[in-house]
Amino acid sequence: MTAPDTVRLAELTWPEVGRAIESGTDTVVIGVGAIEQHGPHLPLVVDTLTSETYSRRVAEELGDALAAPPVRPGCSGHHMEFPGTITVPPAVLMDTLRAYCRSLDEHGFEHLVLLPTHGGNFAPVDTVAPEIAREIDASVIALSDLDEQMELMNEGLRAAGVEYEEPVIHAGAAETAILLAVAEGLVRTEELELGHEGPVSVTRLLSQGFESITENGVLGDPREATAEAGEEILDRLTAAYVERIERERAAVEPE
Ligand SMILES: [Zn+2]
Repeated sequence: MTAPDTVRLAELTWPEVGRAIESGTDTVVIGVGAIEQHGPHLPLVVDTLTSETYSRRVAEELGDALAAPPVRPGCSGHHMEFPGTITVPPAVLMDTLRAYCRSLDEHGFEHLVLLPTHGGNFAPVDTVAPEIAREIDASVIALSDLDEQMELMNEGLRAAGVEYEEPVIHAGAAETAILLAVAEGLVRTEELELGHEGPVSVTRLLSQGFESITENGVLGDPREATAEAGEEILDRLTAAYVERIERERAAVEPE
């Protein structure tokens, strides 16, 4: 059997990774996911699955990048009222990311991209990225603009004709749409039900937990989701990530 045509780092052998590095693959995209409740209709793996999907699509689009296996669990303390959620302290997540980046840096990759898909992971990623960058030779690119990501997700809904806006995204129309697009079989369509609608205080969500705002763990209305909207969202976010990575790489590349 010849080498599989894949950007997934973990599916390659060590000689294949070595050859990839030698022939100019200098970037690794690291999804930062979670194992946490996503309402009665979506599995706990949602954020891990989406980070894996984006990492792979971004790496394929870049052409000179690999996608690392996503890091998880993440910081999901605010979902612990819901059975199954696994959470780690921010320090543990940050240490894991540090170790990931040190390892990949040692192998000679030049750009390490952190791609969080779960709200609770954005602050730890933001904190640790510059610290890691100071310790290693590779550049560290943190795709941690949560507001931009949520805006692009709402744009994706609109582009597919779904006239529904989610101020804070969790297990509603946007995330359900992505799952319909990439793993339809994991969506319990008979369990789709409305969650909390309207403005939400993110501070309250994080400090008092999701259950204080939404009994079923859902924000927004997953019944609005379509696979087409999921594809629009994936396209938009992938394009935004690729553009940002290319810009950051160009900024640190020697003249
Ligand atoms: Zn999620």
